[in-house]
Amino acid sequence: MSSKKSMKWPKINLGGLDEEMKIPTSLRGLVALLEDRNIDEYNVRMTPEELRQKVKMTPKAAYTVVVGREIVKRIMDGKDPRIIIEAGPCSIDDVKAAYEFAKRLKRLSDKVDDVFFIMMRAYFEKPRTNIGWRGLIEDPRMDGSDKVDLGFELARKLLRRINELGLPTITEYLHTETPQYIGDFISRGVIGARTVTSCNHRKMMSGISCPGGFKNTVDGQISPAVDAVRVAGMKNTFRGEDYKGRKAKIHTRGNEYVNINLRGGAGPNLNPESIDEALALLDKHGLRRNIEIDCSHGNSSKDYRRQMGNLSYVMDQRRGGRSEIFAAMIEAYLMDGSYSDNDIALPYPIREDTPRIFGLSKTDGCVGFDAFESGVMLEYEKFKQAGWPRVK
Ligand code: PEP
Ligand code: MN
Repeated sequence: MSSKKSMKWPKINLGGLDEEMKIPTSLRGLVALLEDRNIDEYNVRMTPEELRQKVKMTPKAAYTVVVGREIVKRIMDGKDPRIIIEAGPCSIDDVKAAYEFAKRLKRLSDKVDDVFFIMMRAYFEKPRTNIGWRGLIEDPRMDGSDKVDLGFELARKLLRRINELGLPTITEYLHTETPQYIGDFISRGVIGARTVTSCNHRKMMSGISCPGGFKNTVDGQISPAVDAVRVAGMKNTFRGEDYKGRKAKIHTRGNEYVNINLRGGAGPNLNPESIDEALALLDKHGLRRNIEIDCSHGNSSKDYRRQMGNLSYVMDQRRGGRSEIFAAMIEAYLMDGSYSDNDIALPYPIREDTPRIFGLSKTDGCVGFDAFESGVMLEYEKFKQAGWPRVK
């Protein structure tokens, strides 16, 4: 008798399965059914080292990042009294429009840099609540072709140009591998509302080279963000890859400069009561009292028109003595709103006949640059009238 015939299978009530399916009786036949059942193919990608060789760091960009990170830390420590304003589109969809925005933002930054430290939001990875385009890195052509190597290359080149202007950048890390590809150009790296509870993201934050932040959850809970700051402050190990793409166990040192970011939930949480609640949670664990306010998302009910009013409300609190508010974030781009705010259909994958509107947000609605600039100038004047100290 062959060993196959004498095989004694584990006792499982098949419930009629054997009538529907011919169950293999050899190991080879069984194993063929075990893996890659829903995978079409594997495409080997560029390693971080290969990308860094292709798009190299430059002295001017490195200077901006080194200085940018240290200024953020000094602001978080209260040694530099300026307030960080982070502005940029919800998602970068077009490197030309993003660079145009960066140039305008830098000109504005130079006018207000004794009160505000302006950084550019350079968000290349979008989590999305359901289906849709997931950002320039994952699908730079927006056509479903998912050219990730190209996406990383475009992101790196754009980040280099923005930093060469002297404008430090902030990004959301949606994937834990991303810092190895672009992290040398980033002065603040944040984790969004949909991944704040992810253990691997929290551990990754404990190892990134720049200050970072965690959003409260989409439903408005602040305590998961506080828990995340605790984890990020500790030494951790997490599984990832090294720069050559080899599987690695990564031992982190802990990141001391990580804050929570109040982004609202079903309702806003930029009011003094919510800030008190957040501070009480931070105090309970002896964490740094740094609060960042996201003027968009749950704090604006996703209406971009409310963002500059929110900035004003938050800056009034800061002028009133709330020194814990060290940063505010605005979703701003060249044009007001988004495709959907303008009733323009934006199918994904994008179609040939889909209009391409320069500087109009493809994801959340943004404040157009002109409105953003006048709002910032107004706040700047108010700080000056309040005798805000000059740093220079
Ligand atoms: C964003 O900043 O564009 C974003 C997706 O934020 P959140 O994670 O708060 O939804
Ligand atoms: Mn957004």
